[in-house]
Amino acid sequence: MCLFCKIVNKEIPANIIAENDDFLAFHDINPKAPIHILAIPKKHVDSFIEVSPTTMAGMTSFIQEVAKEVKIEKSGYRIITNIGENGGQEVKHLHFHILGGTKLAWGHFSDADPKNNL
Ligand code: 5GP
Ligand code: ZN
Repeated sequence: MCLFCKIVNKEIPANIIAENDDFLAFHDINPKAPIHILAIPKKHVDSFIEVSPTTMAGMTSFIQEVAKEVKIEKSGYRIITNIGENGGQEVKHLHFHILGGTKLAWGHFSDADPKNNL
């Protein structure tokens, strides 16, 4: 069972913010912004590559609710999902990073010359 499935099953503790039958949101253990939450489907999906439109529809509403819950819906925030090796995905259970609580930097996605990424 993967790490986030263990969090869903409450085998590993997490600081949970919101939960319904299908989705779970909890604080990232290594926050990269003042607010850094992970939103996941409870049912295991490897990554965005495999996710169904139905799950994404539910995820959209869930993320909107989480943003309201932590009061960043007006100040703004960023959603990121890393996909596969080149996307830098470390945990192989679909998750959306919800980052906020400050003005986030932009354009810092590669240490290398961007031309080398084309
Ligand atoms: P990825 O690199 O796969 O997009 O993001 C994985 C995220 O999961 C990272 O931001 C990392 O800090 C977070 N993470 C890894 N292990 C745990 C854990 O046991 N608990 C929580 N709450 N977050 C974790
Ligand atoms: Zn899983």
